[in-house]
Amino acid sequence: MTSTSDPGARLAPAPLPAPAPDRCPLCASDRTALRFPARGGNVVEARAYACTSFGHRRHPPIWRCGACGLLFQEPRPSEAQLLAAYGEVEDPIYLAEKENRLLTFRRAARILGEARGRRLLDVGAYCGFFVEVARERGFEAEGIELSRWASGQARARGLAVLNETIAERAARGARYDVVTMWDVIEHLAEPRRDLELAARLLRPGGRLVLSTIDAGSRVARWLGPRWPWLMDMHLFYFDRENLPALLESVGFRVVARRDYAHTVSAGYLLRKLEASFPALRWLARGLRLLTPARLPVPVSLGDNMVIVAERR
Ligand SMILES: [Zn+2]
Repeated sequence: MTSTSDPGARLAPAPLPAPAPDRCPLCASDRTALRFPARGGNVVEARAYACTSFGHRRHPPIWRCGACGLLFQEPRPSEAQLLAAYGEVEDPIYLAEKENRLLTFRRAARILGEARGRRLLDVGAYCGFFVEVARERGFEAEGIELSRWASGQARARGLAVLNETIAERAARGARYDVVTMWDVIEHLAEPRRDLELAARLLRPGGRLVLSTIDAGSRVARWLGPRWPWLMDMHLFYFDRENLPALLESVGFRVVARRDYAHTVSAGYLLRKLEASFPALRWLARGLRLLTPARLPVPVSLGDNMVIVAERR
């Protein structure tokens, strides 16, 4: 790993290009090509893995599969490194955004329909905000979360969120009517395996609802290397074709795919804008002076999607 603070770094030869991956991790095709070269040093640490991380545009090489269109980091951190980093995440900015997260989730939860006493598991529940919204709607809702800090925050508010992996929960033989994964799959070391585990956690006919960034969206393609979601903690970048195909291959039937809107505060949005587009920082700073920081702003650029899939 190179470091910019290394006094010898300026004299060192340019790093060799990363070796091309042999196979696409999704479809095993050998038609892989470098899409975005590495930027910044890849550091697997809790700071870069917080939900509200401002570490945009810092990532290892990102490759594209010519067969299925998947974008993926390679090399990727090991699962053990990821578990350790996510376990240590603490993210007070996220707590300050609570009201907006609740607005986001209340809108998103409409896709679940009536609760009718159904049991729901939120995977990657973080501070438990979606579990709270699902309970408001009448679901018997619980969650699992890797961050000890975040799951503790949820439990402190009386929510059933345990510090557990999806594999651990599935091994206990638990069964649910609904499993949700909000902006989780792009962070997983083994997305196919974890979707298989999600299928095991659902009764036949049960539903998986998941959201993620859409690398095939017009915004993502137009921005290219400037797309702000290209970052360390996002290992896999799916689109509206290859993610449904993956879901179908592990025992689901895809019943809906839609745009997914986030509601954020104006202050948070402008900080994200500044971190994502340094050239616009003066504009962003000016707007921050003029805009009430807490003003809720719904954001939907068409590059976030939600997919509903039924377990066969
Ligand atoms: Zn592929």
